[in-house]
Amino acid sequence: MKCNIAVIRGDGIGPEITDAALSCLYAVGVKFKHEFNYTFPLLGGEAIDATGVPLPPETIEMCNKADAVLMGSVGGPKWDKLPGHLRPEKGLLGIRSAMGLYANIRPAFLYDSMKNASPLKNEVIKNGIDLVVVRELIGGIYFGERGQRRTERGQEAYDTEIYSVAEVERIAKTAFELAMTRRKKVTSIDKANVLETSRLWRATVDFVAKNYPEVTVEHMLVDNCAMQLVKNPSQFDVMLCPNMFGDILSDEAAMITGSIGLLPSSSLGVGTHGLYEPIHGSAPDIAGTDTANPIATILAAAMMLSSSFGLNNETLAIQNAVNKTLNAGYRTADIHSSGFKKVSCSKMGELIAMEILQG
Ligand code: NAD
Repeated sequence: MKCNIAVIRGDGIGPEITDAALSCLYAVGVKFKHEFNYTFPLLGGEAIDATGVPLPPETIEMCNKADAVLMGSVGGPKWDKLPGHLRPEKGLLGIRSAMGLYANIRPAFLYDSMKNASPLKNEVIKNGIDLVVVRELIGGIYFGERGQRRTERGQEAYDTEIYSVAEVERIAKTAFELAMTRRKKVTSIDKANVLETSRLWRATVDFVAKNYPEVTVEHMLVDNCAMQLVKNPSQFDVMLCPNMFGDILSDEAAMITGSIGLLPSSSLGVGTHGLYEPIHGSAPDIAGTDTANPIATILAAAMMLSSSFGLNNETLAIQNAVNKTLNAGYRTADIHSSGFKKVSCSKMGELIAMEILQG
């Protein structure tokens, strides 16, 4: 198969972790006889340095032309003092919106070999953690009307949350479709005891659920969910969240699996076009030292192969190779402890690529 992939290497550790992911894709290409063709659009700080803006028009064109986009991470202190519309993060929000990516999918999985890295007690994680947060990405309070004004009460600020039935329907459908490929349970998160948008959200999710009779649906208030995640995380399969609740809960879900260096995410719209990236940022504190953990980006490439190209065996080959490498005791600095073999970012990429070839 021929796969056209736009690779945004990005800032900070971005180039190091994407290079490791590209060596794994090279191994997949050799083993399964696929041709991966790459373009390298600029985004974020790298784009600001080269063109003066975080999202040049040619980046949008290259990303929309490719079958899928694989990204490292963007941002860093060098660009922190720029005005809001010129900051690297603006480029990230812009490309998601330009590609129409409304669904952010974040799996949180606890590897057996990583159980000691979870901050939760053994008795809490004895049944493992294997959940996926499905977060609505381009609606809700982050995109509603906002501002500041002067009233008789003094200076005040406001943000507005708006959700339409159509917006909730499409993200709910993504969650139910995903649940059908997993343990067939959707937990929809809201604050329906207080928020009108949550009441519409809940009613719409129930409406969509009628098309998926095999899937068990449960509604959970966001405050209870924050508690349940640390009390009994194995109860969750697919968690369906509005934008802001998903933003917060997906970080909590990531943390309980041990390291943000291990978790990938995908952002999807209509069809198979998607953007795949690690959940972490550009880690400027360790950039250029070859010590970053590339596994999240390697697993993001694995998600890309199944979601955008339908290559499920190739995805499994990467996931198995990661598992075997961790089981063999190799660790990058962020997850290293005594008794394990410490390796660099590039070495971890090579080890996983070798496992793919030999697996
Ligand atoms: P961060 O995720 O970059 O780093 C937080 C901590 O985790 C740091 O100590 C870092 O060294 C460590 N870390 C992160 N990824 C790691 C990895 N793969 N291996 C080993 N250690 C790792 O978050 P931050 O420091 O808040 O943000 C740094 C920059 O990244 C900021 O400019 C921020 O805006 C940007 N950012 C970008 C994205 C993205 O590109 N999607 C996401 C979040 C933050």
